[in-house]
Amino acid sequence: MNGKVYLIGAGPGDEGLLTLKGKSLLEKAHVVVYDRLVSPSILAYVNPSAIMIDVGKSPKHHQLKQSEINKLLVKLSKEHPDSIIARLKGGDPFVFGRGGEEALELKDNDVDFEVVPGITSGVSVPAYFGIPVTHRGISTSFQVITGHEQNENLSLDFKNIAESSSTLVFLMAIGNMGFIAKKLIENGKNPNLPVAFIEKGTTPQERIVYSTLEKAEETIINENITSPAITIMGDVVHLGKILQWRKKKPLTGKIIAVTRGEKQISEISTKLKNLGATVIETPMINTIPLKEPLDYFHHTEVDLNQLNNFNYLIFTSSNGVHCFFNALKNLNYDIRNLYRKKTAAVGEKTSGVLKDYGIICDYVPQKQNSLGLAEFLKDKINPTEYKKILIIQGNLGDNTLSESFPLASKWIVYKTIKPKELPLWKENAIKSAHGVVFASSSAVKNFVELTNHNIIPPIVFSIGDKTTVTALEYKFSVVQSEVPSIDSLLQKILDYYI
Ligand code: SAH
Repeated sequence: MNGKVYLIGAGPGDEGLLTLKGKSLLEKAHVVVYDRLVSPSILAYVNPSAIMIDVGKSPKHHQLKQSEINKLLVKLSKEHPDSIIARLKGGDPFVFGRGGEEALELKDNDVDFEVVPGITSGVSVPAYFGIPVTHRGISTSFQVITGHEQNENLSLDFKNIAESSSTLVFLMAIGNMGFIAKKLIENGKNPNLPVAFIEKGTTPQERIVYSTLEKAEETIINENITSPAITIMGDVVHLGKILQWRKKKPLTGKIIAVTRGEKQISEISTKLKNLGATVIETPMINTIPLKEPLDYFHHTEVDLNQLNNFNYLIFTSSNGVHCFFNALKNLNYDIRNLYRKKTAAVGEKTSGVLKDYGIICDYVPQKQNSLGLAEFLKDKINPTEYKKILIIQGNLGDNTLSESFPLASKWIVYKTIKPKELPLWKENAIKSAHGVVFASSSAVKNFVELTNHNIIPPIVFSIGDKTTVTALEYKFSVVQSEVPSIDSLLQKILDYYI
């Protein structure tokens, strides 16, 4: 069976406006063919192992012709049998998206396809600015019109359009607006007709500019309005000033890249998004839980039974806690045997994860780092007991604890690895970021390597001392959180931008 092609609408930009069907296909897709208008937050849903083809920009920086895209889809379907080929487009594929042409070509070549409609910009972008395209008593219909035709000569029925009382929504019309406005006025439209331009609607760079038909071209020039933008004309435009329903949040308009490992990324992302930021999730470290961490015992060959000999379990990261329990499960270890062991955690985050596993941590230091923990434990644990300590860490964990307790054993429960590569779309997205968050020095190193030293973030937000030192080595400008916690880091991010 040839691969099946899905013509998927990505909506106008905001990832929340992608359909559930579209999202689930992107997560499963083997190949994704996408346009320039599709926002990075939507591309982020794509299965990381999918082949990504940008047809908005070829390597030589010009667009693939529509006929070439049509052929490409057929070719991909033949080359990838039994696969999902997602053809991802801005807005809706059948509204000025040339989805119909692609569907015809697929049909002609007996390629199976489905259409997954998307939220079209002509209606949703005004809605995000409180402008309803129809409104009882003001407008009973709307027209969505192209302001740009293939052959460069715009041949619209201006008489008809001018005479209609519909709300008019023009797409791709910025370049021709002088001509369009002139023609509409010549054909009898009121020169004072309210007009709004909405640039990059539902994205962090969005902007609305109000004008009138008469002044439309002048406004575009003065305000430097650029594509993609929609132009909406009609009395409903007034409602935008009353119904602007979105509240500006502290980080609205800010794009922040978060580089934590996949597992921990979501907490900080969610909090940043709640504050209005657009987040680019770009893990710069991946952690792999080790199935049989006993191999990695530091000092002695310890078998499973000997785990029972330890009286103290020290956890230095929340990931360590997850991987520890994962390992115990893999080893068929009965956790009732952990009974009476004392537990210590480097900070509240880690002790919180222990609590999720039903363990109330005995020791959490005030100073929440490995040195703080070592000093704290020296006070609590009798030196004769040091050999009863088991330190649970990742392979890149620092040696502060094992150096402070040379008789202790160490269990490496996960490995930290560098992601294989950074997809081009993500690299471009990171370039647009106003700031990058780092939670470990290995993430900083991997960032620099994966971006080939090409990206210097405007500002780096660092969670702790080591991360800061590494970021400074690369001459990044750094703001560091007061204490190594997500909330403290968020506070610093807010302080920085406000
Ligand atoms: N299929 C798309 C339209 C593609 S034509 C849809 O249904 O929305 C491309 C034009 O759509 C752009 O030139 C611009 O006029 C408009 N457009 C698309 N996304 C937009 C956005 N986020 N903000 C403003 N205009 C947008």
